Amino acid sequence: MRYCPRCARALESREQGGRARSSCPDADCGFVFYDNPLPVVAALVEHEGHVLLVRNHGWPEKWFGLVSGFLERGETPAEGALRELKEEVGLAGEVVRLLGVYGFSERNEVIIAFHVRASGTIQLGEEIAELRKVLPERLRPWPFGTGQAVADWLATRG
Ligand SMILES: [Zn+2]
Repeated sequence: MRYCPRCARALESREQGGRARSSCPDADCGFVFYDNPLPVVAALVEHEGHVLLVRNHGWPEKWFGLVSGFLERGETPAEGALRELKEEVGLAGEVVRLLGVYGFSERNEVIIAFHVRASGTIQLGEEIAELRKVLPERLRPWPFGTGQAVADWLATRG
Protein backbone atom coordinates (compact mmCIF):
# COMPACT_ATOMS: atom_id res chain seq x y z
CA MET A 1 0.00 0.00 0.00
CA ARG A 2 1.54 3.31 -1.09
CA TYR A 3 -1.22 5.87 -0.62
CA CYS A 4 -3.46 6.64 2.30
CA PRO A 5 -6.90 5.04 1.71
CA ARG A 6 -8.52 7.88 3.71
CA CYS A 7 -6.91 11.01 2.28
CA ALA A 8 -4.77 9.78 -0.65
CA ARG A 9 -1.46 11.24 0.60
CA ALA A 10 1.69 9.19 -0.03
CA LEU A 11 2.40 7.00 2.99
CA GLU A 12 5.68 7.36 4.83
CA SER A 13 7.57 4.88 6.97
CA ARG A 14 7.31 5.75 10.66
CA GLU A 15 8.00 3.95 13.85
CA GLN A 16 4.84 2.87 15.59
CA GLY A 17 4.72 0.40 18.45
CA GLY A 18 8.37 -0.56 17.94
CA ARG A 19 8.07 -1.27 14.21
CA ALA A 20 8.43 0.73 11.04
CA ARG A 21 4.96 1.05 9.55
CA SER A 22 3.57 2.84 6.52
CA SER A 23 1.76 5.80 8.00
CA CYS A 24 -0.10 8.84 6.72
CA PRO A 25 1.98 12.03 7.16
CA ASP A 26 -1.18 14.01 7.93
CA ALA A 27 -1.53 14.15 11.72
CA ASP A 28 -5.28 14.86 11.47
CA CYS A 29 -5.79 11.72 9.37
CA GLY A 30 -3.50 9.45 11.38
CA PHE A 31 -3.96 6.36 9.22
CA VAL A 32 -1.45 3.55 9.89
CA PHE A 33 -1.15 0.56 7.57
CA TYR A 34 -0.68 -2.35 9.99
CA ASP A 35 -0.45 -4.95 7.23
CA ASN A 36 -2.13 -7.61 9.36
CA PRO A 37 -2.15 -11.19 8.05
CA LEU A 38 -5.21 -12.33 6.13
CA PRO A 39 -7.07 -15.42 7.32
CA VAL A 40 -6.98 -18.37 4.95
CA VAL A 41 -9.13 -21.45 5.44
CA ALA A 42 -7.85 -24.86 4.41
CA ALA A 43 -9.28 -28.37 4.20
CA LEU A 44 -7.39 -31.62 4.49
CA VAL A 45 -9.88 -33.53 2.39
CA GLU A 46 -10.39 -37.27 2.76
CA HIS A 47 -12.26 -38.69 -0.22
CA GLU A 48 -12.68 -42.41 -0.94
CA GLY A 49 -9.62 -43.35 1.10
CA HIS A 50 -7.34 -40.71 -0.38
CA VAL A 51 -6.25 -37.24 0.65
CA LEU A 52 -6.77 -34.66 -2.07
CA LEU A 53 -3.96 -32.25 -2.92
CA VAL A 54 -4.39 -29.49 -5.46
CA ARG A 55 -2.16 -27.31 -7.57
CA ASN A 56 -3.45 -23.86 -8.41
CA HIS A 57 -2.85 -22.27 -11.80
CA GLY A 58 0.36 -20.28 -11.65
CA TRP A 59 1.99 -22.51 -9.04
CA PRO A 60 5.19 -24.36 -9.96
CA GLU A 61 4.66 -27.83 -11.49
CA LYS A 62 5.53 -29.76 -8.34
CA TRP A 63 3.72 -27.62 -5.79
CA PHE A 64 0.61 -29.15 -4.33
CA GLY A 65 -1.28 -28.02 -1.27
CA LEU A 66 -4.52 -28.51 0.57
CA VAL A 67 -7.76 -27.08 -0.71
CA SER A 68 -7.61 -23.50 0.57
CA GLY A 69 -8.64 -19.92 0.03
CA PHE A 70 -9.34 -16.62 1.72
CA LEU A 71 -12.06 -16.50 4.32
CA GLU A 72 -14.93 -14.31 3.16
CA ARG A 73 -17.06 -11.83 5.03
CA GLY A 74 -20.01 -13.34 6.86
CA GLU A 75 -18.90 -16.96 6.91
CA THR A 76 -17.41 -18.98 9.74
CA PRO A 77 -14.00 -20.56 9.07
CA ALA A 78 -15.64 -24.01 8.81
CA GLU A 79 -18.17 -22.68 6.29
CA GLY A 80 -15.34 -21.09 4.32
CA ALA A 81 -13.42 -24.37 4.18
CA LEU A 82 -16.50 -26.20 2.87
CA ARG A 83 -17.11 -23.45 0.30
CA GLU A 84 -13.53 -23.79 -0.96
CA LEU A 85 -14.04 -27.56 -1.13
CA LYS A 86 -17.04 -27.03 -3.40
CA GLU A 87 -15.31 -24.37 -5.53
CA GLU A 88 -12.00 -26.16 -6.02
CA VAL A 89 -12.97 -29.82 -6.38
CA GLY A 90 -16.78 -29.76 -6.67
CA LEU A 91 -17.42 -31.87 -3.57
CA ALA A 92 -19.75 -31.64 -0.60
CA GLY A 93 -18.24 -32.45 2.75
CA GLU A 94 -18.42 -32.26 6.50
CA VAL A 95 -15.91 -30.91 8.96
CA VAL A 96 -14.49 -33.62 11.22
CA ARG A 97 -12.47 -31.25 13.38
CA LEU A 98 -10.18 -28.24 13.50
CA LEU A 99 -6.60 -29.37 12.83
CA GLY A 100 -4.91 -26.17 13.90
CA VAL A 101 -4.13 -22.53 13.22
CA TYR A 102 -0.80 -21.80 11.55
CA GLY A 103 1.21 -18.73 10.73
CA PHE A 104 2.48 -18.32 7.18
CA SER A 105 4.57 -15.18 7.46
CA GLU A 106 6.09 -15.46 3.97
CA ARG A 107 2.64 -14.74 2.54
CA ASN A 108 1.36 -12.71 5.49
CA GLU A 109 -1.43 -15.20 6.11
CA VAL A 110 -2.89 -17.15 9.02
CA ILE A 111 -4.12 -20.58 8.00
CA ILE A 112 -7.11 -22.13 9.77
CA ALA A 113 -7.12 -25.79 8.76
CA PHE A 114 -9.83 -28.42 9.12
CA HIS A 115 -10.04 -32.14 8.57
CA VAL A 116 -12.93 -32.65 6.15
CA ARG A 117 -14.60 -35.80 4.85
CA ALA A 118 -15.97 -35.38 1.35
CA SER A 119 -18.12 -37.40 -0.98
CA GLY A 120 -19.35 -37.20 -4.55
CA THR A 121 -17.74 -36.88 -7.95
CA ILE A 122 -14.70 -34.66 -8.27
CA GLN A 123 -15.02 -31.74 -10.64
CA LEU A 124 -12.10 -29.33 -10.70
CA GLY A 125 -12.85 -25.63 -10.40
CA GLU A 126 -11.34 -22.92 -12.57
CA GLU A 127 -8.57 -22.08 -10.10
CA ILE A 128 -7.22 -25.61 -10.06
CA ALA A 129 -4.65 -26.81 -12.59
CA GLU A 130 -4.14 -30.33 -11.26
CA LEU A 131 -5.35 -32.73 -8.58
CA ARG A 132 -3.46 -35.48 -6.82
CA LYS A 133 -5.05 -38.31 -4.82
CA VAL A 134 -2.62 -39.56 -2.19
CA LEU A 135 -3.01 -42.52 0.16
CA PRO A 136 -2.63 -41.29 3.76
CA GLU A 137 0.35 -43.57 4.38
CA ARG A 138 2.13 -42.00 1.41
CA LEU A 139 1.39 -38.43 2.40
CA ARG A 140 4.53 -36.41 3.23
CA PRO A 141 4.07 -33.02 4.89
CA TRP A 142 5.93 -29.99 3.57
CA PRO A 143 7.45 -27.59 6.09
CA PHE A 144 5.40 -24.46 5.37
CA GLY A 145 1.86 -23.28 4.72
CA THR A 146 -0.79 -26.00 4.77
CA GLY A 147 1.92 -28.67 5.16
CA GLN A 148 1.91 -27.96 8.90
CA ALA A 149 -1.72 -29.12 9.10
CA VAL A 150 -0.81 -32.28 7.18
CA ALA A 151 1.94 -33.02 9.73
CA ASP A 152 -0.46 -32.55 12.64
CA TRP A 153 -3.12 -34.74 11.03
CA LEU A 154 -0.61 -37.52 10.39
CA ALA A 155 0.71 -37.28 13.97
CA THR A 156 -2.73 -37.66 15.53
CA ARG A 157 -3.74 -40.39 13.10
CA GLY A 158 -1.16 -42.67 14.73
ZN1 LIG B 1 -4.35 9.98 5.42
